[in-house]
Amino acid sequence: MERITKSTTAGQRARVGVMGGTFDPIHHGHLVAASEVAATFGLDEVIFVPTGQPWQKQHKKVSHSEHRYLMTVVATASNPRFTVSRVDIDRPGVTYTIDTLRDLRRQRPQAELFFITGADALAQIMSWKDVDELWGLAHFVGVTRPGHELPDLGRQDVSLLEVPALAISSTGCRERVAEHQPVWYLVPDGVVQYIAKHQLYLESSEAENA
Ligand code: ATP
Repeated sequence: MERITKSTTAGQRARVGVMGGTFDPIHHGHLVAASEVAATFGLDEVIFVPTGQPWQKQHKKVSHSEHRYLMTVVATASNPRFTVSRVDIDRPGVTYTIDTLRDLRRQRPQAELFFITGADALAQIMSWKDVDELWGLAHFVGVTRPGHELPDLGRQDVSLLEVPALAISSTGCRERVAEHQPVWYLVPDGVVQYIAKHQLYLESSEAENA
């Protein structure tokens, strides 16, 4: 795919990526995916949006949203194009992407939105709430992820992008911390320190809530 090197100039619509995730914790797989999409699609900004209680993980124990929000702030602080939104964590109830995009559209009526999703999440997209309305709110960019096939949804508003393969998952990071294995270089340094300071993940986070 041709790389777009220039981003928006005066008078053009801002091109804004949206990277939704549980970010429990945020890791370099998320950051590389966002950075690659930003470079390829000439995005002016990528908004990271930590979920409230994700609808797909309703029976899983997820860390407190303020921890996930703050780790995302720490991880993205050094990149001037990366920002973090509280829209999902401040909305009561379960998070659905349709609500995320409706809220961001309201906040950025002029922007062209690009929703970034990994291959695993993209494969599920047809089961997402109000999927028919989703396509009208943003372009969708599916990125490769080791161990997951990129589905071809046959839609013009979905782009597929190969990104450097990082076999990192939040589940794997949590398990490593619980087993006292290092997570240095899997997550940003500040996130390693945040996890240690707040003693996160010392017990396996896969315990059922229900
Ligand atoms: P968990 O292991 O807890 O399910 P996760 O590592 O999948 O978490 P999420 O916060 O659920 O992380 O993912 C947010 C988004 O980032 C999803 O669209 C997911 O597909 C994508 N993503 C996560 N890890 C990677 C990776 N290593 N490479 C590419 N995309 C990724």
